[in-house]
Amino acid sequence: MSDDLNKFIRIQVLLNAKLFNGNPNEKAILGKLLGKRADLRSQAKEIQSLISEIATDVRSLSLEQISDELLKIAPDAEKSDQQRKKKKAIKRIEQKKELPELKNAVKGKFIVRYAPDPSKYPHLGQGMNFLVNRIYADKYEGKVILRFDDTNPAMVKKKYYVAIKEGLLWLGATWDEEINASDFIDEFYDVTKEWINKLFFYVCKCDGELVKTNREASISCNHRTHSVSKNLKEFDRMLSGEYQVGEAIVRLVGDMTSDNMVMRDPPMLRIVSDQHPMLDKFYPVFPMYDFESAFLEYKMGITHVIRSGEFGTMRQELQSNLISKFGGKVPEFFSFGRFNIQGTPTKGRVIRELVETGIVSGWDDIRLVTLAGIKKRGLHPDTARLIIQEAGLTSKNTQVAWQTVEAKSKELLEPISKRFFFIPNPIRIKVENSPVNEFELPIHPDHPEYGNRKFDITGDFYLSKDDTAKFKEGSLIRLKDLFNIKIKSITSNLITSEYAGDDIKAAKKKLQWITADFIPGNLVVPELLQKSKNEINPESLGQMDGYFESSISIATEDDILQLERVGYAKIKIRNGKITGHIIHKHF
Ligand SMILES: [Zn+2]
Repeated sequence: MSDDLNKFIRIQVLLNAKLFNGNPNEKAILGKLLGKRADLRSQAKEIQSLISEIATDVRSLSLEQISDELLKIAPDAEKSDQQRKKKKAIKRIEQKKELPELKNAVKGKFIVRYAPDPSKYPHLGQGMNFLVNRIYADKYEGKVILRFDDTNPAMVKKKYYVAIKEGLLWLGATWDEEINASDFIDEFYDVTKEWINKLFFYVCKCDGELVKTNREASISCNHRTHSVSKNLKEFDRMLSGEYQVGEAIVRLVGDMTSDNMVMRDPPMLRIVSDQHPMLDKFYPVFPMYDFESAFLEYKMGITHVIRSGEFGTMRQELQSNLISKFGGKVPEFFSFGRFNIQGTPTKGRVIRELVETGIVSGWDDIRLVTLAGIKKRGLHPDTARLIIQEAGLTSKNTQVAWQTVEAKSKELLEPISKRFFFIPNPIRIKVENSPVNEFELPIHPDHPEYGNRKFDITGDFYLSKDDTAKFKEGSLIRLKDLFNIKIKSITSNLITSEYAGDDIKAAKKKLQWITADFIPGNLVVPELLQKSKNEINPESLGQMDGYFESSISIATEDDILQLERVGYAKIKIRNGKITGHIIHKHF
């Protein structure tokens, strides 16, 4: 038989072996081959025995070696195999639950906003809620405005603006335009004066308690009937700093008899005492949420307000009322169930306590689900998008277990992360009669462009004590992707063995190994911060010592590594020693 035919059949066997986890199905190969090549049907018997011969050989190869050889002898076939995988992945994404259609959404004329409050660090659940807006904006070819609802000068801090933007960008929750509500402070004052003129607003000097009880009892105060000129004068006095916090507020002329409490002359602007960190001078009066939000919704032409949690029809009535007063079109309101991450604290107050008591190292501690924390930890940034697309949106809150977050992140990291061996708790093992001096493995079988890991084989190896505990004299072990060894003797700090062939099927156990050329190191292992809902786990930071294969020195600090059978990790190398942490454990 010709060399060409030989090669052709070998490719078919290798491709099939890849499909069946290293064990080619001879009958299937023959059927496919004869189907493709009618000219070979007369030699079916010879072809069959050739397939059988090649299949036996291929069975002794590791999956990595199969991929390697395919890349060499049939790069196109191997590429198309990868493309097939990619197509499959895309199809999976397409099959994910479509988000519900939004009312009156017009392609190209769709504007939504994220409106974070820059008074705390954002966490994953919040990030996901923002991301929903981005997903819709992409669907309707619209745009997203990032609007900082920063109208409480006592609480907002510059660092939170930065953290929120960094977190959103990392999640892929990008935006097309960015504004701060505080940038519009002068306009808020102008609108307020205009609305006092139009009898929409009045200045009320009742104390807070009285305002509250009057609203509950549907009682109007006498400030409501003051003239425009008196109200304007009072507002000027508010602006000139004559009143202290709480001594005067601007209220909407609503409907004091409305069944909807929110409509009973709600407060619109209030006096503050703190300098706003983003403004260059002191502004004594700030709009409250409803006024600020309605004005900017109108101003920016927001078509859809998409938000998590119950927005509430009561609040919606007020928003609509205000936007109509501006002469704007009331946006469509769409609310969906919030994404709550379970098993780890998400409340700002709880996290602040953990930071202040030193239980965590800061807001970016790798055990926290703040966006800074999970970014530093090394989760795949598309994890949130994947969860949203798989869970879909419902009207009820979606509880997402931390384990689910990890599983999705692993699913995304697996195809791209660089693979190396790490041997925790190492024990030395001598291997006699090694038939090879040098050995190479791909850094990732699907990514030849990542390059290879090189090993000098001298006969000195290390395995993990966790794996060798059950070794007996005479045990046959496979050093993963390398060869088989037979155990000769075992002591507490040294095992001796000898080369025992290459038959991949002969040895049941396949173990990770490293050679004497290793880099020692230590990994931090994050565990769940909470034992139960209100109980902090005091041992949420474990340690793992061990040896890394020396090829790992080509990895950068930003690389996500897969330490086979141990987990995903991020590392850095300093003075010949590795430190780092586990992102996700394998089991
Ligand atoms: Zn009053």
